[in-house]
Order: sequence, then structure tokens, then C-alpha cells
Amino acid sequence: MDKLPIFLDVKGRRVLVVGGGTAAARKAELASRAGAAVAVHAVEINDDLRRLVRDRGVEHRAKATADGDFEDCVLAFCASEDDALNERVRSLATARGVPVNVVDRPDLCDFTMPAILDRGSFVVGISSGGEAPLLARMLKARFETLVPAAYGQLTRFAGSWRGRVRQRLADFDRRRRFWEDMFESTVAELVFSGREDEAEREMARMLDAAAADADAPRRGEVYLVGAGPGDPDLLTFRALRLMQRAEVVLYDRLIGEQVLNLVRRDAERVYVGKAPLNHTLPQEEIGALMVRLAREGRRVLRLKGGDPFVFGRGGEEIEALAAEGIPFQVVPGITAATGCAAYAGIPLTHRDHAHACVFATGHGADGPAGLNWDALVQPMQTVVIYMGLSSLHEIAEGFVAHGGDPKTPAAIVENGTRPEQRIVAAPIAELPARADAQKVGQPALIIIGGVVRLRRDLAWYEAGEPQPVER
Ligand code: SAH
Repeated sequence: MDKLPIFLDVKGRRVLVVGGGTAAARKAELASRAGAAVAVHAVEINDDLRRLVRDRGVEHRAKATADGDFEDCVLAFCASEDDALNERVRSLATARGVPVNVVDRPDLCDFTMPAILDRGSFVVGISSGGEAPLLARMLKARFETLVPAAYGQLTRFAGSWRGRVRQRLADFDRRRRFWEDMFESTVAELVFSGREDEAEREMARMLDAAAADADAPRRGEVYLVGAGPGDPDLLTFRALRLMQRAEVVLYDRLIGEQVLNLVRRDAERVYVGKAPLNHTLPQEEIGALMVRLAREGRRVLRLKGGDPFVFGRGGEEIEALAAEGIPFQVVPGITAATGCAAYAGIPLTHRDHAHACVFATGHGADGPAGLNWDALVQPMQTVVIYMGLSSLHEIAEGFVAHGGDPKTPAAIVENGTRPEQRIVAAPIAELPARADAQKVGQPALIIIGGVVRLRRDLAWYEAGEPQPVER
């Protein structure tokens, strides 16, 4: 985050605007709409500003700004075409400690103005820190269609009940749940459709019910959510919704910062990551922790890389929950195989190259020695190996020793779907040496099979063995 977003109360306070044109009028209007006492300094003002002076009590001062004008001022906008004037206003404001915004000059700004979605008390400000205002405005246009105009009414309605809700529901978590339920309930629908009397009655009924229930033990639950291989765009809607509902999150080593940032801000974060051979929390303890947190009545998010049921030990975790009668739901995620394959341009199946695709782990109970090689070494089949990097040498040897062609195309996708994604490709027999030379790190996925050849720009071709795609 480059700048701190805040919403400033300017009601009745002085805001100074320098300039008499469209940009000045726009800033004067915004400040005035937020209740500020606006003074505009300009010799000449345009029609828009004249209208603001007439209709909204904006004050026009047909003189240059002087030091005294900044007294009691909370903000200053400078919207002049004259650079020397901009600089002067800026230094006067700065000397008085008044934050200043110089239109179209982010380098001279103490603060920038966001694109604003205005729904009365409900306001969304979108900022690109002054670097791409148009992008912010385009996003704002999309929000316009998403946020009903009645959000302002709903915000006011909720505000009018806030004190009563606080009084009846002393516990913070209970209050939060009450509001979450309320904003998705018929009360919200009634407010949206302008039936405020009915909304008042329904709200009173909901609050009575919640208060009566206040001493009952809270019922916790667990969301076992697949977060995909790294790119936050690959989350499902349901994953995102539950990430926003959770009160505590247990997350893995595979969960990147970008995904974690989408979990509700005030949720407690517990790292239970596992690096191979360096177990932070044994699996049974993760299960026991989830059970304990849910028993405390919390909404527990168990966020897992990829899909919870693909080499994710999700099965063991739900067994622990089921055994203790804890309610849970499982949300599938994009598994590393499909995510990495798509982002690397390698189709996992293909009419001419692979009629089957097998997912295997190089890190099972017996390591690669435990792999069923007869099933893996098959014609027209893609083999995807999870957790195989540390035993890549044994895997490549095993593949060839069990009859696999040493020239079978193979690739390692490191950090798949993330900005740092890297692909190292070579015939399977040469892949270990290539990976060592290129210092491939975790997480990494191994893909073996003719389909790897379909990615045309692989180092594979640079190695001098171009294989035209046959159709
Ligand atoms: N449940 C996860 C897999 C967990 S096992 C899923 O469905 O994807 C961990 C292994 O997944 C890693 O060792 C690596 O082989 C693979 N993996 C996970 N994310 C990856 C990524 N972004 N890029 C490459 N491999 C990844």
C-alpha cells in the first residue's frame, strides 16, 4: 500500500480551492457535498463555480491567496494552470501544515483524490495513488453497477440501530455475526425496497431472537478451502466468501501473501505450514486445533494450497472433524496440476498425445520407491508428480528403468501461476541435471509425457530437438 486511505470529516470546516475552472469546480463541489465551508480563490470563476456560490454557499474571493487564508483550513486544493502559482500555494499550505492537493501533479500532492462512489453514508473511494486515475475511474464504473443506490439507506438504517444492538449484544463476535446475518437478511431487502416500517419491525424481531439466544453456546464450524496454486484470480467465489466470513485462519506454507491478504483483515492468523522434513505442526495437532477452535464457537478457515483433496490431507482433517461432530464444508480449489499446466501452456490430455493423466506423489510413505511404475510408464499418458523435486533423480531413473523412453518430454514448473513462475524442460533422462544446473526450488511440479512437447517455446526446442506438432 502506497498511501493511507482515510475518510476525513470536513463538516463546517474550511477547505480552500485555488482556481476558477472545471477542475476547481469539481473539487469545490466534492468538498461542499461533504459539508465543508469552501472558499474559492480566483479572479474569474466559471459557470459551474458561480452555481456553487449561488446554490451551496461556496465563498468566492477574487484575490490571490495569502498566508492568512490558510488559517483554520483543513485541506487545500490547487487547480490552477499556472505552475508558479501551484508552487506558491503549496509552500504556503505546507508552512501552515495544511495538506494540499495539486491537480494533475502527484509530485506536489500530500494527498490524492480517489474515484468516488457516493451512496450517502456509504462511500467507496478507489485510488491508484495518482498514477492511473483513469483505471480507478473505470473500476468505479463497475462498482456503480454492483452497489445498489439503496446502500446509503441501508447504512443509515444500520447506524440508527447500532446503539441498541450494542446494548443487547455485549459480546463482540456475536454482534459481528448479528450484523453479518442482518445484512444478508430480509431486513436488508426491505430497506432496499423502501419498506422501512416493515424493516424496523423485522429488525426488532431479529434482535430479540439474537439477544434471547445470547447465552446459548455458539456453534463453530470449519471451512476447508482450496486456495489454488497461487494466483489469487484462481480462487472460487465460494472460497472468497468464506475467507471473508472466517474469524480465524489456519494456513499452509503454500499460501502466498496475495491470497492471504484476501482473508478478512481482522481474522486471527495461525501458520501451520509444513516444509518437507520440517513439520511445524503435526497433522493430528492441526486436526485437534481445528476441533478446539470450532468448539469455542469460532468460524475456522482451513486454507490449503491447490485442492484440499489432492495430496492435501484434507481427508484426514475432515475425519477428525466428523469424529467430533463439528460442522464443516469443503471447497474445491484449482490443483497445482491443472493450474501449472494451463499457465505453462501444456495440455494435460490431448487427442493425439495423451488419453489419460495420472497424478502421483514423489513423497509418499515410501518415497519414489513406492510408486507404481507399471501404471506410470504407459503410452499416451501424462504423468504429473507432486512433491517430486527432492527425489527427481530417482524418479527419472525409475521411469527409464521401468521401460520409459529416456527421450520422453518432461518439464518442471516452479512457482506455477505466480509472477515468478519458471519452467525447466528436458527429456526425462536429462531433467535432473538440468534442474540442478538451473537451481529449481519449491514449490515445483513435474510433468512427464508427449504433451510437454506442445509447448513450443520450451528450452526443449533450444536443446535442438524440435518436434513438430502432428495433427
Ligand atoms: N493440495 C495441493 C498439493 C499439495 S502438495 C494441490 O492440490 O495443488 C504440495 C505440492 O504441490 C508441491 O510439492 C508441488 O509439487 C505442488 N505445488 C503446489 N503449488 C504449486 C505451484 N504453485 N507451482 C508448482 N507446484 C506446486
